[in-house]
Amino acid sequence: MNDCCGPGLRLLTVPEALERIVAAVGPAEGSEPVPLEQCLGRVLAEDVHARIDVPPAANSAMDGYALRYADFSPGVTLPVSGVVPAGAAAPPLAAGKAVRIFTGAPVPAGADTVVMQEVCERLPEGVRLPEAIRQGSNIRRAGEDMTQGQCVLRAGRRLRPQDLGLAATAGHGVLAVRPRLRVAVLATGDELVAPGEPLGPGQIYDSNSFVLLGLLQRLGCQVSLKTVVADTLPATKQALRDAAACSELIITSGGVSVGDEDHVKGAVEALGTLDLWRIAIKPGKPVALGRVGQTPFLGLPGNPVSVFVTFCLFGRPLVRRMQGEQEVSTLRVPVNAAFDLKSDGRTRYLRARVAEQGGELWAELYGHQGSGVMYSTSWAHGLVEVPPDRDVVKGDQLMYLAYSELLA
Ligand code: AMP
Ligand code: MG
Repeated sequence: MNDCCGPGLRLLTVPEALERIVAAVGPAEGSEPVPLEQCLGRVLAEDVHARIDVPPAANSAMDGYALRYADFSPGVTLPVSGVVPAGAAAPPLAAGKAVRIFTGAPVPAGADTVVMQEVCERLPEGVRLPEAIRQGSNIRRAGEDMTQGQCVLRAGRRLRPQDLGLAATAGHGVLAVRPRLRVAVLATGDELVAPGEPLGPGQIYDSNSFVLLGLLQRLGCQVSLKTVVADTLPATKQALRDAAACSELIITSGGVSVGDEDHVKGAVEALGTLDLWRIAIKPGKPVALGRVGQTPFLGLPGNPVSVFVTFCLFGRPLVRRMQGEQEVSTLRVPVNAAFDLKSDGRTRYLRARVAEQGGELWAELYGHQGSGVMYSTSWAHGLVEVPPDRDVVKGDQLMYLAYSELLA
């Protein structure tokens, strides 16, 4: 255990915790070939290079007429020797002639200029050109988008739709991507019951498992185990052993404080190491990082809102790092507070809705910010970050983490 665990010792700040979490893990092993159709959201394992020049050959950017600029004079009429549609091979252009050409069609050898049809006049004897044209106009040069061998996507990129298009353009039907990260989700608590089952006295439904399942699925992980664990040391140890056997990352919720019924800390210490303990955030102070055997372990708090927030802040960069992503930071944007708020010693992540007014973003808080109030997470559009010891007055600027960034 490290310096932030004992009573009276200082809490870790959010950036400090994040730095330690990201430094504690590296990319999981491996690479697998996956057809482009199934690559969305996967992380590239290798750089992608263009197999060809793109475009492969000079082609027309317009429907019109291709000609040699040397044959042009203002208002001249050139005989039209043929037609080149897209997808056809074009014969060379004879001197003194023009050829009808369509968008995307290869420019015939000899032609160096395309004149768009709107400025030409088609006559029985040929095409009458306008008073002025520009040499080389309306031609897309071979290789102007990318050249053969050029690196177009770097390893560590999470693939978005436009990246799939780029890879296709570059000639790749299959990409080498990281295998899906296998993650075990353990919800601890004797009070937990699966949703849909009848509730006994003192029981509640397990919601954390489903939040975590969704968050992990959004990141393209394979949830290899999802189970509820009883509040005993042997049960917790057994569940952690089972999890380590089938996953590359173990995430638990609850049982991470120091109460009599909290066995996660003891169980992880018995089976491996525990690195991190208390973070100065609200909700979600107790967060643990360690290893069960060699398998990375992230212990999140039990309260449902805390689970959601701490996963977004710490679990997400951890997972992305293990998936081999290069860039794992979260974009924060400035918003104006539409509320007043008393200071707190910890960094707070408040569930907020954001609306644009007068060209600026204004954040409104959900009324009940309790760490058990799950409704707030659903109601909100994102999280407003309030630094420690900061009194907020309406109109103050704060940073905002949009769900569109956190949950993408
Ligand atoms: P703990 O950290 O285990 O003391 O849990 C803190 C609070 O979160 C308690 O009120 C628990 O009942 C609640 N809690 C823990 N795990 C879950 C879960 N999986 N789903 C919903 N609530 C939970
Ligand atoms: Mg508990």
